[in-house]
Amino acid sequence: MAATASVGSPTSEDLAAEAERLFEAGLADLGYGEGEIARAAELTWKINRLKKIKNAVIPAHVYQRAEVIHGVADFVGDSYKLSRLCAESKAERVVFCGVRFMAETAKILSPDKTVLLPAPEAGCSLAESITPAQVRALKREHPGAPVATYINTSAAVKAETDVVVTSANAEKILSKLFSEHSKVVFIPDELMGRNLSKALGKKIGSELVVWKGRCIVHENFDSSSVALYRRMYPGVKILAHAECSPGLVESVDFVGGTGGMMDYVGRTKARSYMLVTECGFGDLARSRFPGKKFIPMCRLCPYMKATGLPEILRSLENPTPSQIVDLPADISARARRPLERMFDLAEPSRSG
Ligand code: SF4
Repeated sequence: MAATASVGSPTSEDLAAEAERLFEAGLADLGYGEGEIARAAELTWKINRLKKIKNAVIPAHVYQRAEVIHGVADFVGDSYKLSRLCAESKAERVVFCGVRFMAETAKILSPDKTVLLPAPEAGCSLAESITPAQVRALKREHPGAPVATYINTSAAVKAETDVVVTSANAEKILSKLFSEHSKVVFIPDELMGRNLSKALGKKIGSELVVWKGRCIVHENFDSSSVALYRRMYPGVKILAHAECSPGLVESVDFVGGTGGMMDYVGRTKARSYMLVTECGFGDLARSRFPGKKFIPMCRLCPYMKATGLPEILRSLENPTPSQIVDLPADISARARRPLERMFDLAEPSRSG
């Protein structure tokens, strides 16, 4: 309560200026009405003041709502980039606008910071597809094979594995593992595993063991519509996230993580783009590249959309126990090792 009181109440001029800032940031272009922007402004005004008082930083994943990204986020990116920036930040508190496995990763890399997850129910179908006991069973079944885990897993699952990968560095890291091992276990994303088996020329099962997890957003895109879109929009560049099916991935112009997709849009000169991923990413690309045309082909992730401005304000004012991310010390220490191994394998210069 004391912290809330010290924020004070905005004057009508403060609110008008904040609404103007949100308008200029592009919310109106994304379809927000005047009333919505005014309601958001009241909350963003408070959050932005409170985060200074509480020495907090707000990272936001690229799939988050536009009012979060443009209204209160200090940095925006994929889970890898956000975790690194959180660890480098001098802030005492991290209010993680994303899903649980991301907030857990931030806590593993920044154990001394208070990490808050405004929407504690924000899970992930991939992270929930596998348990630590199932990883241990895989290791018994494939002795000697290193286990690489996509970053979309819980801290307890990471603690059982050898190296973490992201969509941006999975191919590079698995290729290094295959230079020393004839078999590698990859969890939990089956479709990404199948895409990796093709890219690396490794047989599913005998060389690359994959788990059966799926992202509920990316597994549902239909590869048959790609040819139709190419006929409808000649010259369109189609980009797909690496969690999409192999059939879709082989028919597009670029496949990768969200960071790679954004870079591709920035460095190419096509008139129109189709971003086959979560809808929030298209909104962000539209704001960053106002001169380019984006054709919608996206789906909403219910987990990513669970975080709103009221939840962020609540976690800063007086967090509920479930909003505070806490990990057992042994899990945190064991999960840190495969994350550090990822940094070493993906960015060797960092460790040297
Ligand atoms: S988009 Fe897919 S992988 Fe990302 S949080 Fe949602 S369910 Fe998980």
